[in-house]
Amino acid sequence: MPEISVVAPVYNQRAETLAELVRRLSISISAVTEDFDIVLVDDGSVNDAWMVISNLARTDPKVRGFRLARNFGQHVAITAGLDHADGNWVVVMDADLQDRPEVIPELYAKAQEGYDVVFVNRAQRPESFIYRMVAAFFYLILNALSGQDYNRLQGNFSIVSANAVRAFRLLREPGRFYGGILRWVGFRHGSITAAHAARDAGQTSYSFIKRVRFAV
Ligand code: UDP
Ligand code: MG
Repeated sequence: MPEISVVAPVYNQRAETLAELVRRLSISISAVTEDFDIVLVDDGSVNDAWMVISNLARTDPKVRGFRLARNFGQHVAITAGLDHADGNWVVVMDADLQDRPEVIPELYAKAQEGYDVVFVNRAQRPESFIYRMVAAFFYLILNALSGQDYNRLQGNFSIVSANAVRAFRLLREPGRFYGGILRWVGFRHGSITAAHAARDAGQTSYSFIKRVRFAV
């Protein structure tokens, strides 16, 4: 059982981005422990992402790759990753380097204060005005429909204890929302604040419709 497993959903990410992700993760997590692995889940990419993940897994024993049968959306991809992540702690993050690997030691340290779940609040959102408007609208609808108070500064970037991961795995509904399920299963939640990087290349893979369809 590694001390830290990282789970990242991958959709059409570039080869350079994935290699850089693994490189930066390895450096950052080594500051905490050498006992870690990286679970990359290809969510039905239509580019060469799966080939890249396979190569990374072949050359680096810390990398494990899984491939979904089609594009299910990031929440199903994260679920598949969590099904295979056996770390005492599991970090969930985007694969596009917007969630910065360098934040992981701080995330881990916060969890050691006695939290099962710690989310990262994004200090800066370098996205465009339109993107932020769409995101704000999304959270307005999400909070209205769910009756919850989801924090729009939080994405997927989080660390979760093995106990909370086990509880998460018990819920198998196909329409999933990572943060929502984690909130539902309970446990002690905390947060830290860290900068969110600009998109490394390309654009968001989400239209508003796709975001709503996949997230709720
Ligand atoms: N992603 C995925 N399936 C999809 C769309 C996105 O697994 O259908 C992944 C993507 O590779 C990234 C994360 O989900 O790791 C967030 O996607 P993106 O960066 O495009 O969204 P945004 O930055 O707008 O939140
Ligand atoms: Mg992104």
